[in-house]
Amino acid sequence: MENQNPVSAVRVSRRRLMKAGVAASAAKIAGIPITVIAANEAAAAEQGIKWTKGVCRFCGTGCGLLVGTKNGKIVATKGDPDCEVNRGLTCMKGYYNSEIIYGKDRLTQPLMRRTNGKFDKNGKFEPVSWKEAFDELEKHWRKAYQELGPTGVGIFGSGQYTIPEGVAVVKLLKAGFRSNNIDPNARLCMASAVVGMYQTFGVDEPSACYHDLEITQNLVLWGNNPAEAHPVLWNRIVAAKRANPGYKIFNIQTHPTLSSRFADVDIIFKPNTDLAIANYILREIMHRGCYDKDFIEKHCIFATGPYDIGYGMRPTEKFAYPAERDTQAKQVKKVLSEDEAIAQRKAPGEAVEQKNAGGPAGNHWQITIEDFKKGVEPYTLEFVSRVAKGNPDESTSDFAKKLKMLADVYCDKANRVLSTGCMGTNQHQRGSWINEQLYAIHLLMGKQAKPGSSMFSLTGQPSACGTCREVGTFSHRLPSDMLVANPAHRAKAEKIWGLPEGTLNGQVGFDAMKMVRGLEDGSMRVLWTQVVNIFQSLPNATHWLKAARKPENFIVVADAYPTFSAKNAADLILPAAMIFEKWGAYGNGERRTNGWSQMVQAPGEAKSDVWMMLEFAKRFKVKECWCEQKLPGGKTLPNVLDKAKAMGIDPEASLYDVVFHNAFAKKVAWPDPLYKGVHCGTAEDLGDGWFPEKALYEEYWQFTQGAHQIAHFDEVVKGHGIVWPYINGKSISYRFNGMYDPFCNGADFLFYGPLMKAIPSGNLDAVTDKTPKPLPGKAKIFFRPYAEAVEVPDSHYDLWFDTGRFMEHWHTGSMTGRVAALHKALPEGMLYMNAADAKARGIADGDRIKITSRRATVFAKACIGGRMPVTRGITFAAFFDENVQMNQLCLDATCPLSLEPDYKKCAIRVEKA
Ligand code: SF4
Repeated sequence: MENQNPVSAVRVSRRRLMKAGVAASAAKIAGIPITVIAANEAAAAEQGIKWTKGVCRFCGTGCGLLVGTKNGKIVATKGDPDCEVNRGLTCMKGYYNSEIIYGKDRLTQPLMRRTNGKFDKNGKFEPVSWKEAFDELEKHWRKAYQELGPTGVGIFGSGQYTIPEGVAVVKLLKAGFRSNNIDPNARLCMASAVVGMYQTFGVDEPSACYHDLEITQNLVLWGNNPAEAHPVLWNRIVAAKRANPGYKIFNIQTHPTLSSRFADVDIIFKPNTDLAIANYILREIMHRGCYDKDFIEKHCIFATGPYDIGYGMRPTEKFAYPAERDTQAKQVKKVLSEDEAIAQRKAPGEAVEQKNAGGPAGNHWQITIEDFKKGVEPYTLEFVSRVAKGNPDESTSDFAKKLKMLADVYCDKANRVLSTGCMGTNQHQRGSWINEQLYAIHLLMGKQAKPGSSMFSLTGQPSACGTCREVGTFSHRLPSDMLVANPAHRAKAEKIWGLPEGTLNGQVGFDAMKMVRGLEDGSMRVLWTQVVNIFQSLPNATHWLKAARKPENFIVVADAYPTFSAKNAADLILPAAMIFEKWGAYGNGERRTNGWSQMVQAPGEAKSDVWMMLEFAKRFKVKECWCEQKLPGGKTLPNVLDKAKAMGIDPEASLYDVVFHNAFAKKVAWPDPLYKGVHCGTAEDLGDGWFPEKALYEEYWQFTQGAHQIAHFDEVVKGHGIVWPYINGKSISYRFNGMYDPFCNGADFLFYGPLMKAIPSGNLDAVTDKTPKPLPGKAKIFFRPYAEAVEVPDSHYDLWFDTGRFMEHWHTGSMTGRVAALHKALPEGMLYMNAADAKARGIADGDRIKITSRRATVFAKACIGGRMPVTRGITFAAFFDENVQMNQLCLDATCPLSLEPDYKKCAIRVEKA
């Protein structure tokens, strides 16, 4: 029977059709095919479709949708006119949310590699029952858990997890198995932004909101391409620019993009030299004396940290291919280039041991404003123009003029400036640094947390913020900005989750890259991936593919489709329910939480990820997880079984009974009288009378009180996106600004981040006074130097390689690639080349080419110019095509602070195939 949700179901009305007309006009501006909109609207009007409120499955913009169902199927989607994010619009992906769940090869039952009816690592995939699937997974999980301890197993999660899924995975691993080996693919997109915010403000998540894109006077895009990656936001930007001729767009990129078409100034920089450009702006601010002295004195301090922090690679060449070894060696010792030496006030050619690689990379200390000035002093216009100019066909003087225009905009006290960062600032081997530098510019000018003026980190995935960052599905985090390493935070989580004191593990777990490196080096043996396709998306993936197939490792891929990872890396494939086949909520890039109800049933035996985790938890007893456990480094986790008994917990009970189906959850009943006639596949499959998605969300809600302060489950399911902090039924648009934010307690500004710790003081090179000094309510203005990219083009690999997204496809294309219209619009992954580079290699547009990096060889077609008219010396590819594994070419260097891989720069060679 078709679901009918009395809370949110609406009939198509004349008003909606009129709004759709407005949406269609705006869509034309954004290049969205009007025929799709018209077709959806016509179908709705004629066929009496029921519309239910939902959220787009794709990017971090977080557009609200209306989802049309008929006869138990989703038949159409359109923009939700009542959602403030998109006001009825969607991009082309948004309109096809209705089709992504009906691909012909949708997985409908578990598949396991078997021979003669038994699991065989080298066998062929055969359909199995859920019982057989879990029997096999349980066997491998228990063996690795017993032999290696809690770090022997792990889950690789997603920024596309719903909030309840995020809570379930955190509780399963951190509370149940006492393992912090959970990390999401949000590590691959947002981790540098998070560290930038943590270190600057002591709290995560932006202070700004999307409305700032419209009310600013100057938008500075630092390495992000919203025309492709956030199309609906781009539409709002373009509309604002058309309405206000004074609105300027500065586009700071390593090559022109679709966003260049509306930019007033395109600044093309050499990869990694954005660090130098930011320091030039900072130097100009100091030299011109235009900084906001009052704001700085009251609300900021200056800080720096070590420069010799490595590149987030392994310190050994043991697992490196021979061609990788020269790059790998720089993780231990880097010979400074001439420019790098000037930028770091050192001698050219000096071989610097990377002594602060690893944990110490995040250390930092207070410095004086005089030291800060000294740090930025080498970054003159002349020096930075020479170092940073990225287009060899542009003159240095023209480039310098553009840099000066940019500095003029930032240095003008009177105007509003919004800087945005995304993958270009985050997927960066100094990603945390560039984020901090951009905050430094805004703080110095007193242009942070003010309407139309801020550094604003845009987010990539639909719930990288709402689930990964806010719920804490990272190896180091707990909900609401709490950390596993902090005893008080663990104690708070244990109290809310009803766990004995000492249950939670204080040792940070394996981050994303450490998990796959762990499969290679034997430190981890069972990996369960959820809502991700990592063997296509991770950099340098030929290593991880080989590791997955090692006989001792067991890989589980839970997905809706047979992805590249499922076919090539998995031992067991679990069929997953998709977005509108389950209840959920996402949190977008402006702190807006938007929920939805289940609208249709999942096909065949496909189940929600929440159900999979809860069902799996039934197979392990408390006594086998809460006994003494060994950890890496010779440490142990204490036995907490006696404390558990004292709390009335039976050691023979399952993790399901204790961690999930607890007293709190039992009060959240299913069926829920608020949602009569609506299904909940998870609750119905479990069959024990509770509403897991709502219970998980509401239990998590308790963590947010006094912190993120999110709305209740029923409010976000009913509403059209609610921004937090949400206090007494009112959303707070700007954080840290006393005019808007009650957490400022009457101050004009208060940077109240709870993680802001007292730090020592020193000079630009070292700590000189170890006494930690507190920073009550203050933000940090960091000096960070320019550092050359760890791998730069040379005579053998002579072109830069950059990766990213196009509008038609979502990430690895596992959903959008199955929508005929989107596939047709962009069917193939190609390498975008400059005409001169192609000509020099005898390559014509459309030729088949061979692309080689130190890590892999990939064959593809060349595309010359087109929508990505790259400059000479640099190439670009998207990674949506599973037949062209572009990310295998990428280097797995990461920002040493955030551990986020740098997908934006490595060196390749291109030949005609
Ligand atoms: S893909 Fe992003 S911009 Fe497009 S409709 Fe979905 S959320 Fe909006």
